[in-house]
Order: sequence, then C-alpha cells, then structure tokens
Amino acid sequence: MVPSTSSSPAVRGPVLVVGGAGYIGSHTVRHLEEHGVPVVVLDNLSTGHRAAVRSPLEVVDLADRERLAEVFARVRPAGVVHFAAKCYVGESVTDPSKYYRENVLCTWNLLEAMRASGTRDIVFSSTCATYGNPVRLPLTEDHPQVPISPYGKTKLHIEHMLQDYSRAYGLRVAAPRYFNAAGAAQDGTLGEHHEPETHLIPLVLQVALGQHKEITIFGTDYPTADGTCIRDYIHVEDLADAHRRALAVLQSGTTELFVNLGTGTGFSVRQVIETARRVTGHAIPTRIAERRAGDPPELVSGGRARWTSSDGNRVERASRTSCAMRGASCAPIRAASTAPDARRALRVPFRCAHGSRPSRTCTFDVLARRTRGNSAREAEGIGVRGARRG
Ligand code: UDP
Repeated sequence: MVPSTSSSPAVRGPVLVVGGAGYIGSHTVRHLEEHGVPVVVLDNLSTGHRAAVRSPLEVVDLADRERLAEVFARVRPAGVVHFAAKCYVGESVTDPSKYYRENVLCTWNLLEAMRASGTRDIVFSSTCATYGNPVRLPLTEDHPQVPISPYGKTKLHIEHMLQDYSRAYGLRVAAPRYFNAAGAAQDGTLGEHHEPETHLIPLVLQVALGQHKEITIFGTDYPTADGTCIRDYIHVEDLADAHRRALAVLQSGTTELFVNLGTGTGFSVRQVIETARRVTGHAIPTRIAERRAGDPPELVSGGRARWTSSDGNRVERASRTSCAMRGASCAPIRAASTAPDARRALRVPFRCAHGSRPSRTCTFDVLARRTRGNSAREAEGIGVRGARRG
C-alpha cells in the first residue's frame, strides 16, 4: 500500500466506483486500493469485465433506481467516481437515443441516488470532446464548449447537471476532461479491452500481434506536419492517480472542479505507428483511408491543468505497456506472457523485459472553481510537484 503524504492526499472511503469494470475504471479501482481506499464497484458488465475486478462488485444497471438506492443504503459511500458511459463517437451519431439514455438519464439516476442518501462528492469522467472543433490550441478549460457529436453533447449535459446540482443541493463535483487515455498497468495485470476496438494504439498493436494485416490511417490530408491527426495521449495510470487526487480535493472542501487531463504534448497518427514499430520490431503495414467523420485535426490540452512526465516519449510508454499487456511478439517483450488477447491478458500477469519502472516527475496543476468560500489552499491541494514513483 502507498502511504498518503502531503503530495499524495488521503481519500475517505468507501468509494463507489461506477463503471469500475471498464478500462479507466478498473485502473482507478486498483490505484485507490493501492492507496488504502476501500472500494465497491458498481457495473452492469455491459462492456466491463468481471475479471478486471477484485473488489466487491455490485452488478447493477444505473437504470434500476430501486437497486441503486439499495446499494447506496447498504454501502453508504463517502464518494462516487463515475465512469459508466457509452463512449463511441460514431455510434452516438447513428444511435443518439442510446447515448442520451445511458449517459444523461443514467447519470441523473445516480445523482438522485446520491442526493437521497446524502453522498456529496462525485468525480465524473468528462472529455475533451466537450470542446468540439478547437478554435485555438492548446485547449484550455476556458475554450468554448461546442461539442460536435452526441457523445460530446451528453458529456457536456452532465457537466451542466453537476454544476446545477452542486449549486442547488450542495454536491461537490469534479469533472476531469480526458484527452486520449492510453496504456496498461505497468505490472501488466490490467489492460484495455473494448468490443469492438476502435482506438488507435490497441489496433496498431493488434497488427503487431498478427490479428490484423494492417492499420488504417484515417486521413493524411490534415493541416498538420505529416498530414495525420494529432492527439494528446495520457497514460491510464496517470488518469487513475488524478481521479484519486480530484476526490481528495472535493473531500477537503472544493465544490466544483472542471479540469483538463492531458500531457500537453501531441503525437500524430504516423508518430504513434512509428513508435509501435520501434517498440515491437514489427513492420506494421498501413493503409490510407478517408478521414473519419468527426475527427478534429488536433486535440492537445493546455492551460494550468497538465500532466507531464519526464520519462521521455509518452506514446512510447503507452505503447510499451499496452504492447506488453497484449503479449505482442516483439523481441524485448518475448519473455512476457503470450496471452493471445486482452481478455486473457486481463488475468495473466506478464514480465516485461523493458526494464524497471521509469522515474517520473509530475506536475498537476488544477484550475479549480472556488465557490462558497473555499480557500485557495484547499483548492490547490490537488497540485503536486516533484518526483514520484521512482
Ligand atoms: N485512427 C486511425 N486509425 C484507426 C483508429 C484511429 O487513423 O484505426 C486515428 C483517428 O482518426 C484519430 C486518432 O487515430 O485521429 C486517435 O483515434 P482514437 O480512436 O484512438 O481516439 P479518439 O481521438 O477518437 O478518442
């Protein structure tokens, strides 16, 4: 267990992690437990994986208000971290009903259950998709929020709900806006597994595993240096850490926290593929296709809220951990588990021959909205500078 220090604030539990069987949720559960925080996972397992959860698990759908109320009465959570959502941009365009029901209505149910049971604090997974097409870069928190997909719109609706519930009912709310989550647990026990997989890094590594013959590059005519889209890839363990810190900030009295979570550095699709080639030793053939609908050319976080790491190329780190997770047959990782797919890899530990964990220096500044008399010191409590995890 990692002891709490002034740069690693304590969180009161139990924490109800809604959607804790999914990708970012399961890493956050693991991270909270490593910091001694008792966790209960609530997940309907529609896209999450039972095998990714070792904590007490309540298999409950957020649409089921009765069972939700029963769980809140029994668990009496000190705080909620809410990941459960539908998250495919393309699907949200063709089936918006699903997104308004599963994201907006189900979150309303959750907030009502919190109100009824007196649970005040919630950290909600928001997204840079709430900004829409950037009118300036990098994206800071004060950039206009004009989402272009129903997915982004549902997330923005929820941000507004959170703000209104905070002001009217005294909930304390945090909404980290993620950029591109990437990577796997550095000890190799947890990774990423979506059905269907649409994300660039896992798909590229599936090519390296021989599961696809090539990776499709969606558009090479963007106004970027190499013509492909640029994204800000943040490691999933950094996201997990940020959620714990956000909850600690709420518990110390901050009432509203809307903040970007990215590294502040962008990598193009071609750079990601190049990195995966280097990490895996595989040629990773490519195919050029039309632009994918709804893809802005560049999404990179800016402003005061930025997570930086000193271990060099972040895409490389994400690729290495994901690659090891998937048992990609690259030379340095050959000694690792040869789990044929991420589902199995979720359960099979591996030994990564890429060497020791990198030492990182992290800076996480937070743009906190201080309301109802919170002191600056409390709001800055989430900020940490200095080396960690050597
Ligand atoms: N992308 C790609 N080929 C793929 C999947 C993704 O070229 O098979 C591109 C996509 O167009 C975007 C970037 O990779 O510019 C990151 O996409 P991803 O789906 O991983 O994350 P998103 O930015 O959509 O959240």
